[in-house]
Amino acid sequence: MKKVLSVNAGSSSLKFKLIDMPEEITLAEGNFERIGKNDAIFNFKAQQIKEKNVVSILNHEKAVQLLVESLTASKVIKDLKEIKGIGHRVVHGGEKFNDSVIIDDEVIKEIDVLKELAPLHNPHNLTGIKIFQKLLPNVPSIAVFDTAFHQSMAKEAFLYGVPYEWYEKYGIRKYGFHGTSHEYVSNRVSKLLGKENANVIVCHLGNGGSICAVKNGKSIDTTMGFTPLTGLIMGTRSGDIDPAIIPFMINKTNKTITEIENDLNKKSGLLGISGISNDSREIEEGIKNGNKRCILAQNMYTRKIASYIASYHVLLGGADAIAFTGGIGENSSQTRQEIVERLTVLNIDLDKNLNDVRGIERLISTKKSEIKCFVVPTNEEVMIARNVIRLTSQ
Ligand code: AMP
Repeated sequence: MKKVLSVNAGSSSLKFKLIDMPEEITLAEGNFERIGKNDAIFNFKAQQIKEKNVVSILNHEKAVQLLVESLTASKVIKDLKEIKGIGHRVVHGGEKFNDSVIIDDEVIKEIDVLKELAPLHNPHNLTGIKIFQKLLPNVPSIAVFDTAFHQSMAKEAFLYGVPYEWYEKYGIRKYGFHGTSHEYVSNRVSKLLGKENANVIVCHLGNGGSICAVKNGKSIDTTMGFTPLTGLIMGTRSGDIDPAIIPFMINKTNKTITEIENDLNKKSGLLGISGISNDSREIEEGIKNGNKRCILAQNMYTRKIASYIASYHVLLGGADAIAFTGGIGENSSQTRQEIVERLTVLNIDLDKNLNDVRGIERLISTKKSEIKCFVVPTNEEVMIARNVIRLTSQ
């Protein structure tokens, strides 16, 4: 058995899971919030222990020290040598990385160069990598990129209809994100179908959301693009809009490009339309109370998802299955029901009882449904740990 640590480092947060491989058993997990503050939060869960500590954690290094101390103090591990590898989620791998990779100095340089494409993520992912390398210098570290799974898209799928030099000179193209989740879920669905070369449409619906068309285990298209701003309507992101709206709004409001970009990222989507919340639970509550803007937000949300599912069904030459994952996809039976109702023309049909489920892997469509529908809770950490084992055992 090999113990592997999956790590996701953000600007003021760090999430982790210690997983026993190949059994894929979680031994410990937790997260830090508000790193940089005197009242940072450290949540730690292992066996019988469930702790929430409010402590001063002024930087990521202190957080990792606390994490390592907790793993030994809780006796989850006796010796740090038991950790056989550390897998780091890295948001952007550009065109350089179509797979996970063992991190060396060259890879660190490349991730740094790619910060141009993901300025809010790659630098923090890199901070996490460097601190673990400093504190656990003998443990191999692996980068698992959110974009890598989508590198299988064909040029006709990933290019935009803009001057070709934009791609050649500046790397303007669709990269796609949530790749680790789409890969994990499509893998599970293939197993559930007992069909290796399945055509699967994965709907990752969380605060951020994207859909991926997976053919034979490979991404052939996805809704996020050059950045995670495009595609579906999300919690606070606009999803697809006409790009000409941006200069128009700059002229009308005298806002800067950065302010408009912020509006599109943080004040749009379910929040922007409902005027109430980005959280689908509050939208559902609003709908119950007859709030018209919540009804509109939900209708726009499910309409967009249904139209992408229909489009990917065609691109795939017929989907075998549709999978729902992410906070909304896993938990909101109402949203799943409303999406599928919009797809009746494809003879898809949910079983009301089976669909009444939260966070559990299960078939939710009826026997007569021509496309099977599943809820599959995503597990990006396990996917990262699998990559660590694959690359460190070669
Ligand atoms: P994620 O980004 O995948 O963590 O998903 C977070 C989102 O999932 C939240 O903003 C909620 O909108 C949604 N969510 C979580 N639990 C539920 C639930 N029980 N019903 C509906 N939506 C939920």
